[in-house]
Amino acid sequence: MNITYQSTRGGETGVTASQAVLKGLACDGGLFMPDRIPKLDVTPEELAGQTYQETAYQVMKLFLTDYTEEELRTCIARAYDEKFDTEAIAPLTKADGCYFLELFHGSTIAFKDMALSILPHLMTTAARKNHVDREIVILTATSGDTGKAAMAGFADVPGTRIVVFYPQNGVSRIQELQMVTQKGANTHVAAIHGNFDDAQTGVKNIFADKELEKTLADRGFLLSSANSINIGRLVPQIVYYVYAYCQLLHNGEIQKGETINVTVPTGNFGNILAAYLAKQMGLPIGKLICASNENKVLYDFFATGVYDRRREFILTTSPSMDILISSNLERLIYASCGCDAETTARLMGQLKEEGRYEISQKMRDFMADFCGGFADQKQDAAAIRKLYEDTGYVIDTHTGVALAAAQAYRQETGDGAPMVIAATASPYKFAGSVLEAIEGTAPEGDAFAAADRLSRISGTPVPEAVEEVRRSPIRHTRECAVSEMEDVVKEILNL
Ligand SMILES: *Cc1c(COP(=O)(O)O)cnc(C)c1O
Repeated sequence: MNITYQSTRGGETGVTASQAVLKGLACDGGLFMPDRIPKLDVTPEELAGQTYQETAYQVMKLFLTDYTEEELRTCIARAYDEKFDTEAIAPLTKADGCYFLELFHGSTIAFKDMALSILPHLMTTAARKNHVDREIVILTATSGDTGKAAMAGFADVPGTRIVVFYPQNGVSRIQELQMVTQKGANTHVAAIHGNFDDAQTGVKNIFADKELEKTLADRGFLLSSANSINIGRLVPQIVYYVYAYCQLLHNGEIQKGETINVTVPTGNFGNILAAYLAKQMGLPIGKLICASNENKVLYDFFATGVYDRRREFILTTSPSMDILISSNLERLIYASCGCDAETTARLMGQLKEEGRYEISQKMRDFMADFCGGFADQKQDAAAIRKLYEDTGYVIDTHTGVALAAAQAYRQETGDGAPMVIAATASPYKFAGSVLEAIEGTAPEGDAFAAADRLSRISGTPVPEAVEEVRRSPIRHTRECAVSEMEDVVKEILNL
């Protein structure tokens, strides 16, 4: 019954779940994948009406098999508590014929909280289980939301330190302020002179530096990652798809066994991969609609079988999806070639060297459940405005991309199955862009004035996460060139 993990590039096998959580990335640069996808051992009917926490346990126990029941239940209880502003943790809101799965009720009001409120607990538990007494140093690249959510999760957690790199000019004002006002003696933030892909590649390079690894080990540090490449993030993300299905069932919105579709606004491919894993576990999901903004490398990939990152990086109003190298796609590639590490390693090598790779027809057929969609900034804004005008419900710019893609999918295919849309951020996190979408002109004043105005027109209170930033002084001012990222880490750790 035990599940072990192996690298998608073949360099590591037989790794326990807790070891994989601790390591984040495999030694050979690959990502950890379970040796098989477990099936749910309770039915959705049995789970319907259960709490989020219970659902989380029923899903996570199947993947994290070397954690004891007590360990897992403790991690879950500590993660999904009053930090969330609703007992439902991930409520569903029906609007305009779609179900919005609201993943933004945690402390940093984006879906990253769903996994990053539990990851520190999974990681410190893993350290204890594996008798690791080194200080864990979390290195994270962020397109805006992961950084804050990871720092909020790890702030002042004994035995850990966290260093976050974000693209200067590549995140919303509220996102940036959330990060630079972060409290906690063990939190560090640097703005890099580059985009998200530069930040992510820089972090991967630091992980790959064997010399640095040795120096760190000698000085009592262990590097790990809070990015969505860590299975400790992927597994908790499966939970809310199961929970959403069970809520639909419980509320009589769907019948037993009925198939639903899911649309996910996608960047690094972590969230949608979790939906795919939920399907593999037996959840009745039909299509997985992968929504992109103008950085539509994934849309092109699903349409042609060619992944080509050689294109202009476009800064959009949905910055957390401004990504050209979607790391977690490697896991789907691996699954699609029959878990052939050699093929995966070759394709990833091509991506690195040539910026492009092409998959076989057989691999494409394997991915038939996925359907690419995309919306440009105008279509995104139009979807937000129309939904507001028709229903009064306000969504953020990332969710807007998903809504536009979901509607296009329905129109093109005539597939009217119930549609769950992953609502990945609170509109307050991108209040300026959301207001501009609804009112047609950019709002006057700063990000907080925009939040206040959004509150007036939507009739919803400004979330505490925004109020907290409004009150807090700036604590972090570090910035650096992409080439200096490793030096920044050394400086922070006094190496
Ligand atoms: C991170 C993020 C995404 C993209 O999610 P992936 O798992 O990286 O595909 C979408 N929307 C928001 C608001 C995010 O923070």
